[in-house]
Amino acid sequence: MVNDFSVTVLGCSGSYNAPGGEACSGYLVQAGATNIWMDCGNGSFANLQRHINVRDLDAVVITHSHPDHCVDLFGLHVLATYGLQMCDIPIYAAAEVESKLRVIVSDWRGTFAWHTVGDGAHETIQEVAIEFSTTDHPVPTVAASLKFDHKHFVYTADTGPLWSPGVFGTNCDFLLSEATYMHEDRKSPIHLSGLQAGELAAEAQAKRLALTHMWPEIDPIACGQEAESSFGAAVIVVRTGDRYDI
Ligand SMILES: [Zn+2]
Repeated sequence: MVNDFSVTVLGCSGSYNAPGGEACSGYLVQAGATNIWMDCGNGSFANLQRHINVRDLDAVVITHSHPDHCVDLFGLHVLATYGLQMCDIPIYAAAEVESKLRVIVSDWRGTFAWHTVGDGAHETIQEVAIEFSTTDHPVPTVAASLKFDHKHFVYTADTGPLWSPGVFGTNCDFLLSEATYMHEDRKSPIHLSGLQAGELAAEAQAKRLALTHMWPEIDPIACGQEAESSFGAAVIVVRTGDRYDI
C-alpha cells in the first residue's frame, strides 16, 4: 500500500550480540516507497538484505557512534562502492559518527553524502519529516521523530532517564524505546530500565510502546512486565524480523 508506514526490526540486542546470532540495533523504516535504515548495529546489515534490495535504500540514520549502533555501515560501504556502484547515499548521523568510522576506511569514495544532525535538527527524506533531539547518553546521541501520512513514530535511540520522548510532543502513534535493564539491576545510568521506559512513555502519552535494546541476559517478559506497570497499558517487546505498523 502506498501509505504504509512500518518499522521492521533488523536487530534488537542491547549493547552486544546475544547468543544465537542475535544482531544489535537496526531498523528498517518503510514509508510508502521510501526505505530508511535506522541504526547499523553489528549484524543488522545481513538482516536488512532479507527485506529490501540494497539498491532501494533511500537513506541511513545513525543515532550515535557506539559500535552496536553504527559498525555495519562498513558492510553497506563495501557493497555499495564495489558491488553496486552507488554514490551519495544520504546519511543523517550524530556528531562523531563519520569521523570515528572514517578511521577504519580512510576514504568513503563518494558513496555517502554525510549530514551531521544535532539537537533540534529537521530533515526530510522523500515524504518523511524527521526531527532529532539530543538524549542523555555519553557520546553525542540523537533520538528521532519521524512523521509520514499523519502518523508519528519516535525512536529513543540510547538514553538515560534525563531525556524524555515528550520533547517531540505527546500522543505519538508508536514509541520504540530502549529498555536495557531490569530496574533493580541497572548496570549503568546511561540506559533505561523497563520501568523507566514505561514511565517516560506514560509522560509522553504514547499511544503504543515497544521495547528494544534489552541486555541479552535479562528476561524480556519480566522487563516488559515492569514497563507495563509504569506505562499503564500493554507493551510490545520487539523481536528481530518482526514488522510493526505505525
Ligand atoms: Zn549507546
